[in-house]
Amino acid sequence: MSARIISGIEVAGEIRQEIKRDVEALKSRYHIEPGLVTILVGNNPASISYVTAKQKTAKELGFYSIEENLREDITQEELIFMIDKYNKDDRIHGILVQMPLPKHINEREVIYAINPDKDVDGFHPVNMGRLLIGEALFYPCTPYGIQQLLIKSGIETEGAHVVVVGRSNIVGKPIAIMLCQKAKGANATVTICHTATKDLASHTKRADILIVALGSPKAITADMVKEGATVIDVGVNRIGVTPDGKAKLCGDVDFEAVKEKVYAITPVPGGVGPMTITMLMLNTLKAAKRTVEMQGG
Ligand code: NAP
Repeated sequence: MSARIISGIEVAGEIRQEIKRDVEALKSRYHIEPGLVTILVGNNPASISYVTAKQKTAKELGFYSIEENLREDITQEELIFMIDKYNKDDRIHGILVQMPLPKHINEREVIYAINPDKDVDGFHPVNMGRLLIGEALFYPCTPYGIQQLLIKSGIETEGAHVVVVGRSNIVGKPIAIMLCQKAKGANATVTICHTATKDLASHTKRADILIVALGSPKAITADMVKEGATVIDVGVNRIGVTPDGKAKLCGDVDFEAVKEKVYAITPVPGGVGPMTITMLMLNTLKAAKRTVEMQGG
């Protein structure tokens, strides 16, 4: 039987409605609009499309948003100077620097420059450290989106064996840490796989929930998954151009074959992607609410 398709578009839509209501309440009660600045350096087409989508969503949800598009050859000092300006700007609650940055800029230094209270991407080491001890201020957006997809789709993580393929700082490691916390929507037994893992399939086949973030098209095939598992495909691979000129995408999982074997699966596009942007908005809303709380509201 074909799998249940977990639609990130639907779940993200529900969460966006909740955000919209909260934004309206924040505006009417405290005259505060969640404020987000996106900072893009250069002309990377994928980065431009991500930032455009983030700006569009911010506007739809009633946020105050600023878009900074900087030239490719901006210096690290100039970029950090700009970040500092927004660190001090009370109307801005979230600062998003679109990655990757040009090679002459040290990404780590840039992330360090963002005030952790405004780090709505959740990449600052303070926020990563808080995540590790189960006291996250902001969860990184993609792992946060994955966890919410599981919760809202009623997929039980408690006691489940979760196998994560990939150990990047933005997806693999944080989702593994989040799902092994002793908490609601977590409490799983987690295995992390990477390029040095011996016999990858022997691990993926044991997963009740398989989360794949390795960055290679259709790398996970049907023989590598357990019957009845839930598969979350994080991968976004550009494999050509559609007739209407858009990028043709596929995930890290061989969707057509795997969906015949598993209980539930996320598609690409339309799975994890829409959740990531929505979680950025949720983090920005949270940052705005925190400023109200800190002022005793
Ligand atoms: P990344 O930084 O390139 O990390 C890839 C990870 O996968 C690494 O840990 C690597 O292991 C591991 N890996 C690669 N090939 C492998 C293999 N054959 N077997 C086992 N492990 C393997 O990638 P990322 O930033 O985490 O992104 C992963 C994918 O998710 C990409 O397609 C990206 O576009 C997508 N993504 C999607 C979203 C979204 O919102 N939908 C957000 C972020 C990323 P080593 O550590 O040993 O090198």
